Amino acid sequence: MALIVQKYGGSSVANAGKIMRVARRVVAAKKKGHQMVVVVSAMGDMTDDLIELADQITKLPSEREMDMLLSTGEQVSVALLAMAIHQLGVKAMSFTGPQVGIITDRFHTKARILDISTERIQKALKEQNVVIVAGFQGKTVSEEITTLGRGGSDLTAVALAKALRARHCEIYTDVDGIYTADPRIVSDARKIDVISYDEILELAALGAKVMHSRSVEVGKKFNVPIYVRNSMNNREGTLITKETKKMEEVVVSGVALAEDEAKITIFQVPDRPGSAAQLFKKFADANINIDMIIQNKTKTNTTDISFTVFKNELARALAVVQKAAKAVKAKSVVCDENIAKVSVVGVGMRSHSGIASRMFGALAKKKINIDMISTSEIKISCVVDGDKGREALRVLHGEFKLGKK
Ligand code: ADP
Ligand code: ASP
Ligand code: MG
Repeated sequence: MALIVQKYGGSSVANAGKIMRVARRVVAAKKKGHQMVVVVSAMGDMTDDLIELADQITKLPSEREMDMLLSTGEQVSVALLAMAIHQLGVKAMSFTGPQVGIITDRFHTKARILDISTERIQKALKEQNVVIVAGFQGKTVSEEITTLGRGGSDLTAVALAKALRARHCEIYTDVDGIYTADPRIVSDARKIDVISYDEILELAALGAKVMHSRSVEVGKKFNVPIYVRNSMNNREGTLITKETKKMEEVVVSGVALAEDEAKITIFQVPDRPGSAAQLFKKFADANINIDMIIQNKTKTNTTDISFTVFKNELARALAVVQKAAKAVKAKSVVCDENIAKVSVVGVGMRSHSGIASRMFGALAKKKINIDMISTSEIKISCVVDGDKGREALRVLHGEFKLGKK
C-alpha cells in the first residue's frame, strides 16, 4: 500500500461526465489499496472566465480581491469530485488549500508555499477517506487567501507529495505526457518517455505550460518522482526524474514557445553607474517579474535598455516603468506586445557546441528576424516577431530532428 498524490487539470474535470470519469479512476486506485490524495483544478476555462469578469470591472484589480475571486474556481470542483466519489460508494472529503494548512508568503496572485501542515489530511486518510484538495491556493499567516500563479495546481500536488512523503505524484492532463514541443502547435511532436527535472524546468519556464515551473523546482529539490499522463487513457506518460548519463546523448530534447511576454524599451537612459540599479530596484520593489534584459550603449552618453515582462503584469509594470524612467531622466518608454520567445532546451548542450549557430541559421533561412537572445547552460532563447513565433517553433523542431521517426 502506498500514498499517491494525483492531480487533475481543468480539462479533465470540465463537466459532470468528466468528473465522474475522474472519480472512477481515483476509486480504482483506492481499491488497489492505496491511500489517495487528489488535487483538482477549476473546471474547464473557469479561471479564464473569472479573470475576464474582473476585467469587465477594472483593468487594475486589487490583487487581494483577485485571489478571493480565483480561489473560488477550485472550490467548486473539489466539492463536485467528492460527491462523485460518494456516488461510487467510497468515502471522500474535500478541502480548500487554507483548510489543509497550505501556508504561503503574502505575494498575491503568485504566492510561494512556505509550509504545509499535514495533520488534517492524515486524519482524513486514517478515517479511510479519499482526500481531495483544491489546487492553486493557500493562505498567509494572517489568514489572507492567496493563489500560486497560473497553472499552480501542479505545485499544490507536488508540494503535497513531498509533505506527505508520497511514493510519487501523478499529473493528469489532456495530452499523453511531455512532448518535444506543444503537440497542439507542432503536429509531429513526439512524446518523451523520461525527462530530467532540469530540462522540464527550463521548458516550463520558457512557455511549455504542460507543467508549472515551480512545481518542478519542488520536485527536483525533494526528488519527488512525477508522472505526467493523460486522464482519458491508460498510457504510460512521461516520468520526470533525476538526470542520467544517457540523457546527455540527446543534445536538444525539446523546444518551447512563450507568447505571454511583452517587451519594454527605455530609451536614452543616462550612461552612469547606478542607472540600471535604480531602475530595476523599482521593479523589484513592485514585485514585477522581469525576464530577458538587454542593454545597448549608443554613441552618445546614454544607453537603451530593453526587457520583457509578463503580459498579465504589463499594465502594472508600465505604470512603474514610466515613473522610474522619469526619475533617472531617461528620454522615453516604448512597449511592444507583439513578440514571441522560442527556445531550444537539452542537457546535452553542456557537452556539445554549435547549437546556437544552427538555431540562428535555421531561423535566418526562413527570414525570421531575431530581436533578443539569452542563453544558459542548457537552453538558448530568441525573441522574434509575435506573428512568427509558431512558425519559428516548427522550424526549430525540424532543424533538430525532434519529430516522429
Ligand atoms: P491542465 O489543465 O491539465 O493543467 P494545461 O493546459 O495546463 O493542462 O497543460 C496541458 C497543455 O500543455 C497541453 O494541452 C499542451 O497543449 C500544452 N503543452 C505545451 N507544451 C507542451 C509540451 N512540450 N508537451 C506537452 N504539452 C504541452
Ligand atoms: N485554475 C488555475 C489556472 O487555470 C490553476 C490550475 O489550473 O492549475 O491557472
Ligand atoms: Mg496546467
